[in-house]
Amino acid sequence: MNIKELKEYAIDNNVPIMQDDGIKFLINFIKKNNITSILEIGTAIGYSAIVMASINEDIRITTVERNQERYLEAVKNIKKFNLEDRIDIIFKDALDVNIDDKFDLIFIDAAKGQNINFFEKLERPLNPYGHIITDNMNFHGLTDVNPSEIESRNVRQLVRKINEYKEYLFSKKDYEVEILNIGDGLAIASKKED
Ligand code: SAM
Repeated sequence: MNIKELKEYAIDNNVPIMQDDGIKFLINFIKKNNITSILEIGTAIGYSAIVMASINEDIRITTVERNQERYLEAVKNIKKFNLEDRIDIIFKDALDVNIDDKFDLIFIDAAKGQNINFFEKLERPLNPYGHIITDNMNFHGLTDVNPSEIESRNVRQLVRKINEYKEYLFSKKDYEVEILNIGDGLAIASKKED
């Protein structure tokens, strides 16, 4: 199996994965910042973890997934790519995981309404000058729409939570924050020097 086939499997089976522009940005970001340790929240079937681990052999990834079917598929895929020694996959809700290691990059790509909770929990395992990147800040273009025009109550609530998360990020004085219109919108929060 190659990356293209893995991506096609995700699309055919309605597994949400990172958009091409977003993944390209992540690859360049990892290279540019010499990142070697990554914690990912939201493995799905392992697509983004496998792409990131394939950048170079120094990269180690811990990735967390709470959906059993996807977790099992990710375990299979990580084996197919011979990356078991560099990708640790944890089957658990990320909010219940205890993580002892420290990471250069934390990539949040899980339940969109939980981003503030993830951030609060994940600040501790972040290395000094580390980065927290969060996907889906545009939520398929809906974060710029007037809420009254969004029919579904659940979607309206998610959009509100994503906008709250953006405000929360910009209120964090110890981080440099930017939101990029790449893929489905990426928030980059980089820890400032003291
Ligand atoms: N990063 C993956 C990629 O690009 O290949 C896509 C991840 S997908 C958008 C989000 C995944 O996060 C889903 O598979 C979902 O089950 C998982 N998820 C959502 N909330 C979670 C949580 N609290 N803990 C662990 N996994 C979670």
